[in-house]
Amino acid sequence: MQNSTPSNTNPSMIEAHPKSGRLNVKFVGARDGVSGSCSWLYHAASDSQFLVDCGAFQGADDTPNQQDFPFDPSALRFVLLTHAHIDHCGRLPKLVDEGFKGKVYATKATRDLTMTMLRDAVKKTSIYNESHIDEIKWDVIDADLGFKWGRLRPLADDLCVSFLRSSHILGASLVSIVWKSEDGTDRTICFSGDTGGQSEENSYLPLMKPGQTPFQSSNYIVTEATYGNRTRDADAMSSKVRTDLLSDIISRTVFDKKGKVIIPAFSLHRTQELIADIWSCLRKIKDDPRYADNKLNVLIDSPLGRKVTEVYEQHLFSVVSNGKFQYLNSELPEHIGLSNDDIHGGFKTLVAGERLKITENSAVVFSSSNPNERQTIEQKLRDNQIVLASSGMCDFGPVSAYLKHIRSDPKNTIIITGFQSPGTAGSNLLPSNIDPIDLEQNCVEVVDMAAYYSAHADKNQLLNFIFESRKEEKSKVSATVFINHGTTKAKLELAESIKARAEQKFGTDRSVHRVLKSNALWFDLENGEYLDEQSEMNQLLDEIERLKQELSSHKTK
Ligand SMILES: [Zn+2]
Ligand SMILES: [Zn+2]
Repeated sequence: MQNSTPSNTNPSMIEAHPKSGRLNVKFVGARDGVSGSCSWLYHAASDSQFLVDCGAFQGADDTPNQQDFPFDPSALRFVLLTHAHIDHCGRLPKLVDEGFKGKVYATKATRDLTMTMLRDAVKKTSIYNESHIDEIKWDVIDADLGFKWGRLRPLADDLCVSFLRSSHILGASLVSIVWKSEDGTDRTICFSGDTGGQSEENSYLPLMKPGQTPFQSSNYIVTEATYGNRTRDADAMSSKVRTDLLSDIISRTVFDKKGKVIIPAFSLHRTQELIADIWSCLRKIKDDPRYADNKLNVLIDSPLGRKVTEVYEQHLFSVVSNGKFQYLNSELPEHIGLSNDDIHGGFKTLVAGERLKITENSAVVFSSSNPNERQTIEQKLRDNQIVLASSGMCDFGPVSAYLKHIRSDPKNTIIITGFQSPGTAGSNLLPSNIDPIDLEQNCVEVVDMAAYYSAHADKNQLLNFIFESRKEEKSKVSATVFINHGTTKAKLELAESIKARAEQKFGTDRSVHRVLKSNALWFDLENGEYLDEQSEMNQLLDEIERLKQELSSHKTK
């Protein structure tokens, strides 16, 4: 199946795209759930079909990823990529395999992270191979020194794109598409990609600057809704509470219990955030009198995490044309207690495979990739008090071996730092899920800090993202909001909250006059209507049916 002749998509699977309207959109993926992000657009004036994101469906079952695309990959002109998570970029190699010859537009950081993530993911899939990854043609939007966020870049006649920063992960962007309307004015649709939680008022996570909000001139905003029905505690959004808690767990485990701290961590973004947090904790702990005769060595056992950290070292500290950091949180030096240059130097030391000395008694190092220096788990646990290991959900990677070694001893502590999908080894560790029969085997202490590290905006942060004005802009248009990338429940609750906030008409809020939950129909953005009203009706009936079932399943619980 892996031949590279153009267009080996089954022609019978290809759906027609509408020819009318100036710009049309159809949400192909992440309509009911958060994975497989992919939106298909058609711009009539330039006769261009293109995508925003081309993500994989995540889960144990790879079948959805093997399915044919509903479009002809060889007919697509380009792809606009928001960020490097596999559920947004994971099917790009399949697209190339099936005849896509166009460019992928993204930031440099997203390009490098995507290549790293795809080269890792290729080991677990049969739908493409390494050569398809190499064939992706990139066009980075921030290649030149004159780059600044929000700069317009032509894509085709009467069609432009601009990228704005998201605080979700390194390289992540909002993608704003501008088309020339029939009346000659510019119209805009802004895709949020994934929205991070950092804001001007509170940049509590260690690495990323606050995200930007859609242009005030946006006629449409497509927002994600992962946590559209959740509100986070103030404590979970406090850098001080988080690092105090982490320091406390480390000192209690190592000094009082004489145990080990094992931290399962996602390789992309979470590992790098934890490097910063642990750095700041170790500098804090050095004043603890118990520390004097103890060692605090940290091993990062994550081959993918090391490759990703190399990309962070290259791009996290870069500046744009106005001399400001493109991504870096300006509070990081204060957070760690060192200058930006010293922190950048530390990242360089780590990715070179050297020990990063934090204090007299503590250092951080990546586990060696040199087979001659390979240590056993026992040796690693003997030499280190804290181990950060992949994979984040504990199903594979080095972390499994550590867990096996430490889980039956209560003096050890496991710190969960990311969302655990139901059914994964990580979710079985959570205090709420632990099987009482296994308690004897699992008497290790488990602390769940996932909420402190979530890279997704919660409901209030999403509302601020949608409504808050960018300071420099005055002209206002009323927007239609599409809600995508979430469960039906999250989408419904977010829709109600958006409507409620729109009615309140806060002084500087954007005006929103319409809220739509994404569905599988073509939508004419010029005229603001679905192209097939009959199927819209069917779609609504389907949704009512699904909601009825959801309701009755809740009642029977
Ligand atoms: Zn993401
Ligand atoms: Zn996502």
